Amino acid sequence: MHKLIDLTDCLLTALYPRRCALCGKVIPPTADMCKDCEATVPRVLPPVCILCGRSKEECFCKNFRFYYSGLVAPFYYEDAVRRCIHQFKFYGKTQNARMLGKAMADTVRREFAGITFDFVTGVPLTSKSLKSRGFNQSKLLAVEVGKRLAIKPAHDLLVKIYDTPAQHTMNSSMRRGNLAGVFDVVNPRAIKDKTILICDDVATTSSTINECSKMLLLSGAKEVYCVTAAVTRKAK
Ligand SMILES: [Zn+2]
Ligand SMILES: [Zn+2]
Repeated sequence: MHKLIDLTDCLLTALYPRRCALCGKVIPPTADMCKDCEATVPRVLPPVCILCGRSKEECFCKNFRFYYSGLVAPFYYEDAVRRCIHQFKFYGKTQNARMLGKAMADTVRREFAGITFDFVTGVPLTSKSLKSRGFNQSKLLAVEVGKRLAIKPAHDLLVKIYDTPAQHTMNSSMRRGNLAGVFDVVNPRAIKDKTILICDDVATTSSTINECSKMLLLSGAKEVYCVTAAVTRKAK
C-alpha cells in the first residue's frame, strides 16, 4: 500500500512540482518545506506542556478544566504558519494539509509515544458550513495524520448541531459557555472504551476540542487526545 502511495506521489510530483506550503518555492519531492522556512518556522519546542500544547515556558493552563488527556501541536499560529492555515481554510488550498498533517503526526509520535489510538477524527462542521466551504479542514488533517501513524480514520463519531457566533469574537469564558450542546456523539457504541485522537487546525483556548472530548468521554470513550496544526502563543 505504501509503495503505491509513493509511486502515485512521484508521478504527481513529476507533473506538478512540489512547493513549500509556507512560501510557495519549488522544493525537492521528498521535502516538506524549503530550507529557509525550515529554519524560521515558529515551532513549539520541547519540553512541552501536554495539556495546553505550548512549550513549558509558554504554558497557560491554570484554572482550565481539561477533559482530554493531552494536546500537542507542531507550530505556533503566527507568521507563515498563520498564512498557510488561512489559505488552507479560507482559500481552498487543501494541499497544505499534507505538510501540516505530517508535522502533526511527527509531534504525536514524539509526545504521545506508547499510546495506541483506536481512531483518529476531525472536529466536525455543521452541514451548512461544510456546504459553504466544500471541505472540512480538520477531517483532511485527520486523514493525513491517520495515514502517517496508521490510525483508522473515523469521521462520523461526532456531529456539530448548530453554528455559534465566531469563537474569535468572544473572550475565553464566553467561548466555553458558547459551546455547550453544540456537538453530539453519533453512535456511543462505536466509541465505547476507545482511545481517540482528535485533529483540528488551530487551538486558542482549546474550548472546541475540549468540548468534543467531553462529549466523547460522556458517551463512553476511554481517553481522548488532541493534536492541532498550531496553537496561539497567548490566550486572547
Ligand atoms: Zn518556504
Ligand atoms: Zn500548559
